[in-house]
Amino acid sequence: MSDLTRREAIAGSGAALTLAMLGAGTAQAARSDENERRVVVLPVTPDRVAVVARVHSGEVLTASQGSERRSRTAEKNVAVLGLAVAKSARSRVVVEVAGASRTLDVDTRVEALRASELRVVNKRVALTNKDKPNKLATAGAVVVDARLQHPIKRMIKAAKKDEVDLEAVSGYRSFEYQESLYARYERRDGRKAADTYSARAGHSEHQLGLAIDVRGADALHELEESFKDTPTGKWVAAHAHEFGFVVRYQEGQEKTTGYRAEPWHLRYVGDDVARFLHERRDIKTLEELFDLPAAPGY
Ligand SMILES: [Zn+2]
Repeated sequence: MSDLTRREAIAGSGAALTLAMLGAGTAQAARSDENERRVVVLPVTPDRVAVVARVHSGEVLTASQGSERRSRTAEKNVAVLGLAVAKSARSRVVVEVAGASRTLDVDTRVEALRASELRVVNKRVALTNKDKPNKLATAGAVVVDARLQHPIKRMIKAAKKDEVDLEAVSGYRSFEYQESLYARYERRDGRKAADTYSARAGHSEHQLGLAIDVRGADALHELEESFKDTPTGKWVAAHAHEFGFVVRYQEGQEKTTGYRAEPWHLRYVGDDVARFLHERRDIKTLEELFDLPAAPGY
């Protein structure tokens, strides 16, 4: 059976309820009719999935698998949660919203995980040297997963309208390139210091092709924490979510993410997840959002 869009109308309370399942690929299905409720399930790690629901504000999304059960309330028409599932296997997740429920198949085997725009990598969850984006594309000066090409272009254009000259300066990095980059930092600053700002090979979001580093064309405070106080840094914090990006490593989250604040490092998660995180200011990391263990170290 194809993993791509399987849509099934089910009886809801009042309006027709559509639950769309994408086992692999993109979350495009979540994007069409504003009045329809839709659910997308994507793998996040080999033993966890994200349930992303386009519902009505204030409605509660519940998902369960075996004895695991999680709920979250929608903010601005979106609810997102993480759910534990069998490791590297197919599972069945029961999703409930607005008095209707549906069982969805989800796949956390490596091929499905590689295709997921919500895949998480951190100091506890590694990629192998075989992991690379299925399709690469250029956006300005950087190479990224092809799904980021248009969002980056749209974001740079929107920034320009606000008189902010935004540039992407780093995108996809191969396992081998990250290995050499980290080795250089380790030689310069020592392992302990290097670990606070650089990922070891297999642990970088840049290897996913789903992260970019940005700066202002003025290069003011480039790759420094103080970037957040520049006009460009402020614009990014206020608007990146409109293009599907989140500031992945925020201030004060080192115990969860393992990194100092990186206000220039943007992770693509798609419009719905970015919007939900922007509304839920209390959830500052993908680890918290998907209920993953904190990853302060290796
Ligand atoms: Zn980065």
